[in-house]
Amino acid sequence: MRSNMSRRILEKAEPTPGLLNYDAVVIGGGIAGMEASLDLAEMGFKVLLVEREPTIGGKMFLLSKVFPTLDCASCISTPKMAAVAHHPNIVLWTYSEITRIDIKGKGDFEITILRKPRFVNEELCTGCSTCEEVCPVVLPKEYDYGLRGRKAAYIPFDTAVPKKAVIDIDNCIFCGQCERACPAGAIDFMQRPRIYRVKAHAIIITTGYRLFPAERKEQYGYGKIPNVITAMQMERLLSPTRPFNSVLRPSDGKEPNSIGYVLCVGSRDRTVGNPRCSQVCCMYSIKQAQLILGALPLADVTIYYMDIRAYGKGFEEFYQKAKAMGVKFVRGRVAKIEGLPNGNVRLIYEDIDEGRVKSAEHDLVVLSVGLLPSNDDIISTIHGEKLAVDELGFIRVDPSTPTQTNIEGIFAAGCATGPKDIPDTILEAASAAARCAAYLKSLRQEKAVPVEAVANGGR
Ligand code: SF4
Ligand code: SF4
Repeated sequence: MRSNMSRRILEKAEPTPGLLNYDAVVIGGGIAGMEASLDLAEMGFKVLLVEREPTIGGKMFLLSKVFPTLDCASCISTPKMAAVAHHPNIVLWTYSEITRIDIKGKGDFEITILRKPRFVNEELCTGCSTCEEVCPVVLPKEYDYGLRGRKAAYIPFDTAVPKKAVIDIDNCIFCGQCERACPAGAIDFMQRPRIYRVKAHAIIITTGYRLFPAERKEQYGYGKIPNVITAMQMERLLSPTRPFNSVLRPSDGKEPNSIGYVLCVGSRDRTVGNPRCSQVCCMYSIKQAQLILGALPLADVTIYYMDIRAYGKGFEEFYQKAKAMGVKFVRGRVAKIEGLPNGNVRLIYEDIDEGRVKSAEHDLVVLSVGLLPSNDDIISTIHGEKLAVDELGFIRVDPSTPTQTNIEGIFAAGCATGPKDIPDTILEAASAAARCAAYLKSLRQEKAVPVEAVANGGR
């Protein structure tokens, strides 16, 4: 939802004359979008990568480690972010939104893109963070899921690409301190949004997923009981770019001795309209349990589950390793979570193996939330043909030619087509790039489409 201020500013968007040309437009700058863009660019195609947030990197950058290898997630994604930024065949537009896609014919897409104003001149900004230091407005930091604050003038994180400040105009009080302090004179409150028209022969949609909003499961108390957090918040507490130096519970900053995980929150649950398994929650919870035992060796970790889905290569061994490390697994559906006066949290659950209703007390409870589609904005922008989605809203792809949507020339990869883990996402992105490249080559042979010159797009 945009605030009135944003809406008023965006209504004044000015069209930029002319039409920019690219071989392909990739929508979404997470790990799938970066992989697809790099693969296409390496094959010599000119790519425009469009990301709605102020930086690329997506959710993978925010994770601690990947399962089952326990490789550092940001160590995998950071080099890709840098490679995207510096590849001569990729033009990167962050803080930009697709507002319309017109299908003009075979291999002929006209895409309208809104470039939102950062209120910071990207050419001049050096990423020094002085504006952030002097800004008096403190807000919850989205990239840390509210565990710490950010300013109204901010850089999303230290290795953001591009590492340029952005002003949250909806919360700015226009005190002018950032403007006076900026050594580069980069603050520009006169910036206006601009609308660009782009012609492309193919599109790859890699819009990823959104997390199930845990507050919808009211009986679990998320948002009301301070020491009930989501698994994504725990990822931030465990990651190398973590907000604190340890795992601390929110209410009093204490290191928790006992942590409970509730699996399948918003997945395999018809009461919230999502009967599907989210594929990753079991394994990321097991991974986090292992990392917690490393960070807090004296802590107890209990995982409450319906059944563990350890289906991938090395997953079963990873699960068995967690058991051997002392992680306790309790088969049972959690019915209710209550906050206690001492800050602890009580779980009421059915122990399926014993056939009894029981309760347990933990210092901290983590809700392992599921994955939902995040394609709505893109689907409604497509005119000329309707992009097919499944019953939950994920983009439908042809099972015999995965990554091919029902519209010729439009491909999709990663969690845009359904929940999946990081290796499968990267594989699918590479497959989408290969199919897209074959399509572009066939178009060239058919229509003698020339190799496009890199258009004048700002980074
Ligand atoms: S806008 Fe200015 S003060 Fe802020 S990061 Fe950029 S150069 Fe530094
Ligand atoms: S003008 Fe806005 S962004 Fe700049 S310092 Fe003041 S509140 Fe922060």
